[in-house]
Amino acid sequence: MNISQIINELGEDRELYFNAVSPPIMQTSNFRFSKVEDFHNAFEDEMGGYLYSRGLNPTVDILRKKLAALDEAEDCLVFNSGAAAIFAGIFANVKAGDHIVSVASPYTWAQRMFDVILPRFGITTTYIDGTKTENWIAATKDNTSFYYLESPNSWDYALQPIREVAAFARSKQITTLIDNSYCTPLYQRPIPMGIDMAMQTATKYIGGHSDTLGGVLSGTHAMMKKIFNSEYLNIGSGIQPFNAWLLIRGLRTLSARIERITRTTNEVLQFLKQHPKVESVLFPLDESFPQYELAKEQMQGACGLLTFTLATRSREEIVRFCESLRHIMMAVSWGGHESLIIPKCAGLKPADFDAHKKDHRYIRLYVGLEDAQHLTDDIERALLDQYKK
Ligand SMILES: *Cc1c(COP(=O)(O)O)cnc(C)c1O
Repeated sequence: MNISQIINELGEDRELYFNAVSPPIMQTSNFRFSKVEDFHNAFEDEMGGYLYSRGLNPTVDILRKKLAALDEAEDCLVFNSGAAAIFAGIFANVKAGDHIVSVASPYTWAQRMFDVILPRFGITTTYIDGTKTENWIAATKDNTSFYYLESPNSWDYALQPIREVAAFARSKQITTLIDNSYCTPLYQRPIPMGIDMAMQTATKYIGGHSDTLGGVLSGTHAMMKKIFNSEYLNIGSGIQPFNAWLLIRGLRTLSARIERITRTTNEVLQFLKQHPKVESVLFPLDESFPQYELAKEQMQGACGLLTFTLATRSREEIVRFCESLRHIMMAVSWGGHESLIIPKCAGLKPADFDAHKKDHRYIRLYVGLEDAQHLTDDIERALLDQYKK
């Protein structure tokens, strides 16, 4: 289906709510029944109708239909955060004694799950350089039941050859889940590429305004139903109606924002590349990117996040640069209207900072909706300040 139709119409039945253009927020915990038989049927199959908003809710359903269609998936579930979507997608598909293969350095809370929670159930994880299919094959054991991908990841943008890894996994009946947050379904659709479950944090581009959290997990209807009936209802971390409504509103402008951010990111990238005080840039659709060919082949675009290093080995100078920015804010997250920066060293104890490790010097920039010139002026001034003292 056409993206504009998905965003503007799919799932919406305006005649049901006085022809209001914007859907109502069904702020209700429960739904009433007038027939015992209907009540009974709702208990039997909670995914078949409205019973209680820990399960299905009409406002959430509008969002759910749109997000599943954007992913070209049969169905999806919308969670209260991306982390919850990751948790449910993995937890529903592993059992004691299983083995997981994951890309190296997945999203923090996926890694915490692999390192802290799953080992309590005897589930082990092997982290690999996921850039080559042969590494996935080599790490697979008899008890491997799950592959965890994130392509590109959100610091160095390492990609996995998604189609090849998915095809091998299918041949071994291994379940696959990919974190597709970087691209959103506008720039990459892992489900038609053979991946079982596509996850994205809706907190970032879908919401787009840094005012709500949300997470999406999509796949076959059978898979979503299995997760709905266990983890989704049991954890109770489905998105709330008001937050779902904010995400529907965010979706309305998703294409326009992504288009604008793509253009601005490219201008900022070109500015950084020619700057003598910038040592290197990392961006999946830049010709210098190590997996540029693969990026062009499996992604329809890239935007927003890029990483760069300054031409310095000094932690103090990196700190001074970041603290000198007047408009670009220092904060976690991305995908909103506002440009943001994170130096990798903020996540390291100062004593652990090793200037010889290039990644310790990484600075990640998220390019928001501001004018490119406003951002490059800010960076230029901060680069001057950096060398003042
Ligand atoms: C933010 C983020 C998540 C988690 O999403 P939340 O909505 O914050 O829980 C997962 N993966 C990536 C790549 C992210 O950037």
